[in-house]
Amino acid sequence: MYTVAQLIGGVWGAGGEGGELVVHDPADGSPVATVPVATADEVAKAVEAARGVAAEWAATAPAERATALHRAADAVEAAAEELAQATTAEMGKPLDDARGGVAAGIGTLRQYAELGPVRGGRTLHGAPSALDFMAPEPRGVVAAITPWNDPVAVSCGLLGAALVTGNVVLYKPSERTPATGWLLARALDQALPAGVLSLLTGGAEVGAALAGQDVDVVAHVGSTATGRAIATAGARTGAKVLLENGGSDPLVVDADVDPVWAAEQAALGCFANAGQVCVAVERIYVHRDVAEDFVDALVERAEALVVGPGRDPGTQLGPLVDRRHRDHVHGQVTAAVAEGARVRTGGAVPDGPGAFYPATVVSDCRHEMVLVREETFGPVAPVVVVDSFSEGLRCAADSPYGLAATVLTGSMSHAHRAWRELPVGTVKVNAVFGGAPGGAAQPRRGSGQGFGYGPELLDEFSTVKAVHIEAPGGGHW
Ligand code: NAD
Repeated sequence: MYTVAQLIGGVWGAGGEGGELVVHDPADGSPVATVPVATADEVAKAVEAARGVAAEWAATAPAERATALHRAADAVEAAAEELAQATTAEMGKPLDDARGGVAAGIGTLRQYAELGPVRGGRTLHGAPSALDFMAPEPRGVVAAITPWNDPVAVSCGLLGAALVTGNVVLYKPSERTPATGWLLARALDQALPAGVLSLLTGGAEVGAALAGQDVDVVAHVGSTATGRAIATAGARTGAKVLLENGGSDPLVVDADVDPVWAAEQAALGCFANAGQVCVAVERIYVHRDVAEDFVDALVERAEALVVGPGRDPGTQLGPLVDRRHRDHVHGQVTAAVAEGARVRTGGAVPDGPGAFYPATVVSDCRHEMVLVREETFGPVAPVVVVDSFSEGLRCAADSPYGLAATVLTGSMSHAHRAWRELPVGTVKVNAVFGGAPGGAAQPRRGSGQGFGYGPELLDEFSTVKAVHIEAPGGGHW
């Protein structure tokens, strides 16, 4: 059982007058963590204290900040197994998957520690006696509000980039993974000057209180509805808002691909982390020529996954984050069935403890169904049959979201059409996941705004000052 503490103004254990929440293991319902809830007053005090140390951290040499971030990454590495176990206990993903998320987070911290000090601005030469340059500067106070589905990897990205560019950070982890957030903050704080990082815990109301404060940036990774509420708060306070939000990523399967391979890709995209991945495959448009073989192979893959707690994400399907979320997933499946879709495997809530839900394949779906159009965030593969690649692309593009999309095709011209025509931040051809390290994309529409990853995130957390210098008296230097 974890006993989480907040970190406010450099003091561990501060605040918590807003009560206490208990996190339960989604595999068996047992209590995992007790967590203090910050009051609005505590949130305001934390922001004020952070503001008080912002100037000093901003004035610290970038190389020194980078050294601190490397030391912080070492501390996270030393706590890696503990972090992975806390993640699994709180949100249920198989342990090896959680270990992968922690390793990714450490890699990101190190990447930002390397990139931070080598950043610069443009230099311009106008008149011979003058010099113009553009100097990046920290924005000041950053609120980082994060989700539960890959808590360490996502948090390390925002925290690493914000800290190395000289911002102080108020970190608010998800109320479903607060012990993971606490362990991460504890490790990072060891390597940072007191007060540079703060940890506030609690639910949506704490996030809302933080987003309503006088901060310079609110960076939010989470659902679209929350992102919109944060954008509204930002419009009031003037804070810059950075949003990486929900998606309903399409997979388009062309007529010329091996349906068994396509089904392997679809299974990976739909069922990894029990479908609780921002870029999970949420809807499939398969060409009629290969549809039957594709669905058969996908059903086989779904049925090969063992539903239950375990270690190996390749063979094991962990629980959903909680029963409320399971109700949401199952509700979308039953609504689709009521409208004529067919459950080919799964689709039933299992007896027993926890929030497990089987890998589910639903055929005979139509593009208009809520299961297809909305984010499900569960291990569900809705299949829509299309008569041409063009129809698949058209449906894929028709969405309130714009996070990512995948096409499986042997045609180079179809691949080119896909990246040109799809209004999303990331287009993947012939692989549902992957991408070079350091990759970043700008989500579109309801999926957010700004770069939430990659070197570009360093720019998001910086502002630029243009400087024009001339010699006194209009002379030459
Ligand atoms: P969520 O938005 O409900 O919660 C995320 C964080 O926001 C939590 O810390 C929560 O307490 C806080 N919050 C909730 N309401 C708030 C409010 N009104 N004001 C301020 N803060 C508030 O999201 P979630 O359920 O934790 O995460 C799942 C969602 O995250 C999915 O939609 C998924 O697609 C998305 N996600 C997106 C990415 C990406 O990179 N685009 C990555 C991971 C997850």
